[in-house]
Amino acid sequence: MRVYQVEVSDDLGLSGRAVCKIASDVCIQSLRHEVNIYQTKLKTLQGTVVPKVYGIYTGRVDGERVHVLLEEYCGPPSDGVPGTLSRSIRMDILIAAFKLHAAGVMHNDIVYLSRSIPFGDLPTGASPDIRFVGFDKATIHECPMVEKATENDIKTDIQKFGDDCLLSKCRELRIIWSCLGFDIE
Ligand SMILES: [Zn+2]
Repeated sequence: MRVYQVEVSDDLGLSGRAVCKIASDVCIQSLRHEVNIYQTKLKTLQGTVVPKVYGIYTGRVDGERVHVLLEEYCGPPSDGVPGTLSRSIRMDILIAAFKLHAAGVMHNDIVYLSRSIPFGDLPTGASPDIRFVGFDKATIHECPMVEKATENDIKTDIQKFGDDCLLSKCRELRIIWSCLGFDIE
């Protein structure tokens, strides 16, 4: 998979930077899968906790069949350790992850949280818009936590939310909760 940061011209109605992913051969399947997740389960979250999808194209490069995904640019990978971020940003990340699960999607590639959550070029002190990216390994997920909690419950009792994830066996939300340092608060 080749990934480029591109400038999109105004005449497409989208000015500024975008991300262009080009897949050929064996990668076509994983890009197709990612696009499918964006266009179905994540459709209503585009532009909030996941990037907007601008277009999907099929074509040929040097005679080789390729698939192209053009999506919103959300900034460079955040290199900060999540546990060192301010509490309100960490909370925003957890809530964004919860929204993915509520939409029926498990990300499955959160080992490097910093790579899955680009923060953009932020002025000092500004709060980032949290976006999860890179859904090529994502799977459909019926999250047991969705029945148990709401966004407000997470804000009210973050400790209980983590404990409930463990009891309800939502491993991914529990891992994110712990990676964000809420287990040692
Ligand atoms: Zn879940």
